[in-house]
Amino acid sequence: MTDPNSDAPTNAEPATETTTITATELATHLVCPRRYEFRFERPLSAREGSRDRVRARRRELLRRPIIAGLRADGDAAADRVDAALERFDRHWHSSRESYLADEQERYDEEAVAAAIEAYFSNGGHDHAERLVDADTTLGYERDGIRYEAAVDAVVERDRGYLAIRYVPDLTGILHVSWSDSHVRDFLDGRKYYPRQIGSFVRAGVAIRGLKAEFGIDLPCDFAYVAPLAESRPAYEFASGSKSESESESESASEPGVHVDIARRHFEDAYEEERLDLVELIGDRAAAIRAGETDPRERRFDEITATACEYCAYRDACPDHLAAEVSFGDRPRSRSQSRVSGDADDTTEHGQTQDTADAPTGDD
Ligand code: SF4
Repeated sequence: MTDPNSDAPTNAEPATETTTITATELATHLVCPRRYEFRFERPLSAREGSRDRVRARRRELLRRPIIAGLRADGDAAADRVDAALERFDRHWHSSRESYLADEQERYDEEAVAAAIEAYFSNGGHDHAERLVDADTTLGYERDGIRYEAAVDAVVERDRGYLAIRYVPDLTGILHVSWSDSHVRDFLDGRKYYPRQIGSFVRAGVAIRGLKAEFGIDLPCDFAYVAPLAESRPAYEFASGSKSESESESESASEPGVHVDIARRHFEDAYEEERLDLVELIGDRAAAIRAGETDPRERRFDEITATACEYCAYRDACPDHLAAEVSFGDRPRSRSQSRVSGDADDTTEHGQTQDTADAPTGDD
């Protein structure tokens, strides 16, 4: 066994029987072990909620064109943007959705196109020039398990490497700067925001994967980049106006649509909470390997109060149905909690992680 306090990837150790566990599997198990079972072990048809479709489609609409732009032949900035927008145009028309009004569709199309252009104007060209790989998987081995995280881009920095995952916005992504004990608080039952912790797990697996690939001593980072963090009609903004969240986002005006880009980096949080993260990942990997999928063993009251509301398997889930018909005191639903103003997602700083377990649009 590897020293559980060591974070060094163990690629050099001979793995007899290697099981692969992905960051998406870990993140899903963190939200609800039964959901993990329905998604990965005993696949059920998921009820596609509209938020699921919108978020997953938006991520694909963004990431595929951006990757095409990053990989474009030629060094000219215009070539990259042209390649990205051409890819977007094809993808947009091949994945058409029904909109209630033509204006909505036009606005959506303009917003995503503006976000793609804005990304390249705000760091994307630099990423392209330093691109190491795109649409790839990072991974490492520990205790006979290969952990993997899909990432959209890997770029070289002045020292070390950065892995990127493009997301439409930062909903469900951990606010890493709010604490240096997110994982410990979650492990010890003091805080409960599993979806956000899952975003940290993905970042952690990717960073360790980078270190396994390029060198354990190299500084490595992972960032969620959200080119469409906000979008509004451009006429709301005078030229040169600033967004409220400018500390973590960059604004870009495009004809017709104004978009804000946001990014969240995990390098510092990873270094700060590395050992707790190792423990958490090891615990959930062991549970997955042991086939532990009973949500009643994992803070079920909190699962029913948060994750069930948006779960795509809710209609077929025996645990949810049993909880619904239970005669005992049941926790109020999240919507009820919101009405009464006592949602259970307050952090120690009195701020809230956006813990509503809305669909993730994960791949
Ligand atoms: S309905 Fe609730 S208990 Fe059932 S799989 Fe979904 S989140 Fe888990």
